[in-house]
Amino acid sequence: MEKKVSFSLAYFLIAFLVLITLQNYFLSRTIAQISYSEFKVLLKERLINDLEIRQDTIEGKLVKGADERIAALRGSDTRQPKVSPDMKTFFVVRMEDGDLVKELTANGIRFNALQESTWFRTLLSWVVPVLLFVGLWGFLMKRMGAAGGGLMAVGKSKAKIYVEGETKVTFEDVAGVEEAEEELKEVIEFLRNPQKFQTLGGKIPKGILLVGPPGTGKTLLARAVAGEAKVAFLSISGSDFVEMFVGVGAARVRDLFAQAEKMAPCIIFIDEIDALGRARGISPIGGVDEKEQTLTQLLTEMDGFDTKKGVIIMAATNRPEILDQALLRPGRFDRHVVVDRPDLKGREEIFAVHIKKIKIAGDVVLKTLASLTPGMVGADIANVVNEAALLAVRKGKDVVEMKDFEDAIERVVAGLEKKSRVISPKERERVAYHEMGHALVASVLPNADPVRRVSIIPRGVAALGYTLQLPTEDRFLLTRSELLDRMAVMLGGKAAEELIFGEASTGAKNDLERATDMATAMIKAYGMSEKLGPVSYDKARPRFLDVQMAGQPKDYSEHTAQEIDDEVHQLLRDTLRKSSEILRENRAQLERIARILLEREVIEGDELKALIAERQ
Ligand code: ADP
Ligand code: MG
Ligand code: ZN
Repeated sequence: MEKKVSFSLAYFLIAFLVLITLQNYFLSRTIAQISYSEFKVLLKERLINDLEIRQDTIEGKLVKGADERIAALRGSDTRQPKVSPDMKTFFVVRMEDGDLVKELTANGIRFNALQESTWFRTLLSWVVPVLLFVGLWGFLMKRMGAAGGGLMAVGKSKAKIYVEGETKVTFEDVAGVEEAEEELKEVIEFLRNPQKFQTLGGKIPKGILLVGPPGTGKTLLARAVAGEAKVAFLSISGSDFVEMFVGVGAARVRDLFAQAEKMAPCIIFIDEIDALGRARGISPIGGVDEKEQTLTQLLTEMDGFDTKKGVIIMAATNRPEILDQALLRPGRFDRHVVVDRPDLKGREEIFAVHIKKIKIAGDVVLKTLASLTPGMVGADIANVVNEAALLAVRKGKDVVEMKDFEDAIERVVAGLEKKSRVISPKERERVAYHEMGHALVASVLPNADPVRRVSIIPRGVAALGYTLQLPTEDRFLLTRSELLDRMAVMLGGKAAEELIFGEASTGAKNDLERATDMATAMIKAYGMSEKLGPVSYDKARPRFLDVQMAGQPKDYSEHTAQEIDDEVHQLLRDTLRKSSEILRENRAQLERIARILLEREVIEGDELKALIAERQ
């Protein structure tokens, strides 16, 4: 649309220029332009006749021989357009000349005063400005409409529903997210044949939320689900709802669901839902704002929607924590599919997907590329491949070589480092020891949950690595020793950093917070401190609007508060010492397996068990 507008504007300008040039050309061909002094000479010598005297100009006929006289008068002066013999009329700008009429009469020249032709005047004085104004106004309105907003654009909001009959994207195009794909298979099965699915009694999720860092392929995955199921894909982006008039967003949502119903089976996809589904708070200005109305409409539509119609609602976000809880309730987006950063193998597969589109040299090893790009997501890898191809073209090669890839990675990494999304090798090493600290302490302590996975692939915004533990059974009660062991595992990361590098880093912040919370709960709530005895100091207090009132009186003395603090400190200090001791005893293991982790990025629980058993 934007393109068309500027195109027609250019058209108009060109036409205008052509017209002016043509007019000038023809005028100068037929009418001689002369100066007033020349006019006076011609008058005296009677080389002009039949004058038309207007308000500002005088026009008239040239008598034979006038052109030669003019040429003689001008001599070598070429400032005015040449007067050729075939010019029969002339034109001169009028000057203050009181005796003109007398002179004309004396010389017997026919003359006539003329009023400026009125239609031309009228045209010039107001039709043209009005036309120009109307044109400009229309042009501006169009521009405003394109940019969204604008008072005239209420009906045509920026939040567009994109309908794709066939996305032509399949799981082949999405790599390194097998777990997510596995979870979505059921949805595809359902969309392919909604009736059959129902007779079998399968329970179909209504809303699926794709959660993961930016660029991991959430949008791509949603389109792939539609492609795999061969159903229509209706998408809308949450960020388009920002800056809109009240009511428009809600209308758009209603529209979306109405369209979906007609097109079923299909997928509704709401990209970047966090822009719209932010937790509703009490608005500081008061009243209901646009986003809130839109969100409410979305919830209403979702509730009133019957899955049996064969419509699946998908949404994507990279900030699930800020979403309104109402969105996550059963019957809404209750199924969450994590689309995480790819590991080594995943990155290799993503490279394979994107490399299909270019010609590569024989020396390119995908595995090496994957190992050179820790922390990168699918979008970064697509970027690397693109950049490498550009570099190769610039050098005039017809295939992309390993060297081009290496240079491209360097460039992309430099860009990402600015956004602090890629970790330096030194930091990676620290993260590996930190995570192995958690994992080793967990494997040594009898009451800790077994380790399911250790990873140094960054996760979310803050965590640089993670150690995943899995309780072997559902737990409602935890004993004191279990709590103690859990706390020791939490502090294992900090202990490992101190042991290996001599000091801890800021990476242990979250661990410390959790351990402190746990220690505080043990002392204050569960009565697990010997010194304070079996007393709970953590009675539920009345809360106002779910916000703890500040400055509420404690129901214990300052002295007790001090004692609680001391006990928490003591407990944490003892636990950290315990973790440190475990790691010191197993230092060889720690170093050996941390090296392996650095290389592989992920160690699964079974592998870890085998690795530990190896030495013992
Ligand atoms: P998100 O929605 O999670 O931010 P996108 O789906 O928009 O990420 O991904 C942007 C681009 O990056 C995709 O179009 C694709 O080219 C590439 N990409 C991202 N993830 C993957 C992946 N897992 N496999 C292949 N390509 C990917
Ligand atoms: Mg996206
Ligand atoms: Zn940690």
